[in-house]
Amino acid sequence: MIDNLKQIFSFLDNSSDANDIRAVLEEVFPLEAIYVYDSTTESLRDFSKSWMYMKSKELDEVFEKLSSEKYVKTKTKSYYALYNNKKVIGMLEFSEHLFDKLLEFLNLAGFCISLKIQNIILTERMQKNIDFHDSMKNIAKIIETQYEINYIVPIIGEMIDKFVSDHLVYIFINGELVWPSACKDEKIFELIKCLNNKSEYILTPDKKIGLFPLISENKLLGCIVTKSTENILSEKEIEYLEQLSSQTATTINRANVYAEILKHATLDALTGFYNRRQLEERVKQEVSSAKRQKRNLCAIMTDIDFFKSVNDTYGHAAGDLVLKTVSRVIKTCLRDYDIAGRYGGEEFLILLPYTSIEEAKLVAERLRKAVENKKIDISKIYPDKSDIGVTISLGVAQYNSSEYEKVFIQNADKALYKAKESGRNKVMAYD
Ligand code: GH3
Ligand code: MG
Ligand code: MG
Repeated sequence: MIDNLKQIFSFLDNSSDANDIRAVLEEVFPLEAIYVYDSTTESLRDFSKSWMYMKSKELDEVFEKLSSEKYVKTKTKSYYALYNNKKVIGMLEFSEHLFDKLLEFLNLAGFCISLKIQNIILTERMQKNIDFHDSMKNIAKIIETQYEINYIVPIIGEMIDKFVSDHLVYIFINGELVWPSACKDEKIFELIKCLNNKSEYILTPDKKIGLFPLISENKLLGCIVTKSTENILSEKEIEYLEQLSSQTATTINRANVYAEILKHATLDALTGFYNRRQLEERVKQEVSSAKRQKRNLCAIMTDIDFFKSVNDTYGHAAGDLVLKTVSRVIKTCLRDYDIAGRYGGEEFLILLPYTSIEEAKLVAERLRKAVENKKIDISKIYPDKSDIGVTISLGVAQYNSSEYEKVFIQNADKALYKAKESGRNKVMAYD
């Protein structure tokens, strides 16, 4: 027994999460679960099952009894109190009644077990704080660099989702769901109608649905909604969500203003290439003059390979730097009268006037090699890493005077798709 006790203490010392503790205790006891009382939500939670919210009258009654008795037996199970400064903070549940030797053992080890559990809870809370500050920092970074709502919203959604992981998260803008793709809860739609530009957050009486309005410069832009069937929002989470929604509102407001400005601009802010709208104008012009003058015109559509993993691994700021660098490399490989534009997120379209398909394939191959050989220094953004490299895939198409400009670009896109399919970092021509 003494050996066991020593071993338990040393195992407990080395355990760093609920699963570890559970595994250690299961070696010795017929352990079923570890419950901890969560004072912010005034409920028992299953510590051994990722902090699940427990709603059981029977358990509540046992917990109540434990304030005067250390050990409580029910028909089939038994419970042992976990203390902090003489106050009961939780309980261990066993699948059968404990015989005396085991109880004696618990009396000796109980203090150590409950200390360890409290330590782990504290560490988890701190981690949550750190996660929250990371989220805020990320949103701030996005504010600085991004202006496309379609691009911003999923990032914000995923960040909030990570933060309140036991709730469903929805983002509404102008009364419409924009993230994720579906929300079936009619009640949420009803509640949204109650919001105005002076609203505070709304919490349903059962605290399971929370609405956090997105208000910036006195305008109601939308709202963030959290919903859970099991959990209720804690005060801390509400405070966080309020801050997050205020940051989000600022981001979206700026994105709206920016989008309005950019609608009238011709250049893409990040790369300095033509933006999509201007690019489409240029395609029209080039196609019609190639048609008129019966001269060659080719298009190259390119897309960065596995770009999502650059963002995921090094963050979006590093992703932006890669985009900028790739666009610069492309620019240096082109002639003055070639036309380059940002077609989409990390897709560029290049128009090559007076160029045959054979020449265009050579240009594309030159671009491919130049990007492949470029080392991108991201150490300012991601200090653990100095140089990274990316590759691009390219699709080449020649304009055929009988086709619409749309088909011309689609052909380049189809060739790009083939280049992706055949392994990436490749040039393919449409035939
Ligand atoms: P594939 O080789 O198939 O192209 O893989 P991929 O990961 O590049 O896939 P996909 O083209 O679907 O992913 C594009 C990613 O580009 C998704 C989006 O997060 C990212 N992205 C789009 N625009 C921007 C931007 O302006 N900045 C940053 N950092 N990322 C962007
Ligand atoms: Mg890509
Ligand atoms: Mg893409």
